[in-house]
Amino acid sequence: CGIVGYIGNRDSKQVLIEGLKKLEYRGYDSAGIAVFTDNGLEIRKSKGRLANLEDKLKSEPIQGSVGIGHTRWATHGKPSDVNSHPHTDNSSKFSVVHNGIVENYLDLKEELGAKGHTFVSETDTEVISHLIADEYEGDIVSAVQRAVKRMRGAYALGVLTEYEPSKLVAVRFASPLVIGIGENENFIGSDIPAILEYTRNVYILNDGEMAVLTRAGVELMTTEGDIISKEIFHVDWDL
Ligand code: GLU
Repeated sequence: CGIVGYIGNRDSKQVLIEGLKKLEYRGYDSAGIAVFTDNGLEIRKSKGRLANLEDKLKSEPIQGSVGIGHTRWATHGKPSDVNSHPHTDNSSKFSVVHNGIVENYLDLKEELGAKGHTFVSETDTEVISHLIADEYEGDIVSAVQRAVKRMRGAYALGVLTEYEPSKLVAVRFASPLVIGIGENENFIGSDIPAILEYTRNVYILNDGEMAVLTRAGVELMTTEGDIISKEIFHVDWDL
């Protein structure tokens, strides 16, 4: 199970796939990516090896310079294409990758269902994308802050929305997540090896911390909304 994310000027799917390959050692049963293309937020995902996803990307290519990727270790819902991440909401405007477990997802699913949300997967993660969509009032950062306040359990999240295509939001609690700092490009990853090919400067997120990545920079804050500053960790080892 692993997460990668990219915002910059490269072909993001290359960065995402290479990053996911570095995370393979963590174990996984499916893989997927979401990328902003000229047609909006597009998702490709597949049960099984990363090679299956790469095959799918050959027959159904996507191109764009912002994206998130995931390898899944199923906890809620069997390994299948539809249960693979990224997940989205009914508007398809939001996309989420998640490592961890949302313990209260059934309660949230029921509540969102009563509001008209319909679900296609068996996962706890799909509920997060609907919850963020439901909390969205024009600012993805505060929507994510409100959403995680309602979630119990463990999560590392990468979040994209078509409404704010020049932002990538990352947040963690009890699942690992690091931020890679580049030049006019920034990264997220479950661990340093996933992004080490591109940068040696990272922020290591602690529980309850989040990062808002643009091409130009990274803003760090708590899920309560307090801006924080953190020392850059310089990686001086090689893979
Ligand atoms: N609980 C989520 C799922 O089953 C995420 C699993 C993971 O960490 O890969 O889809």
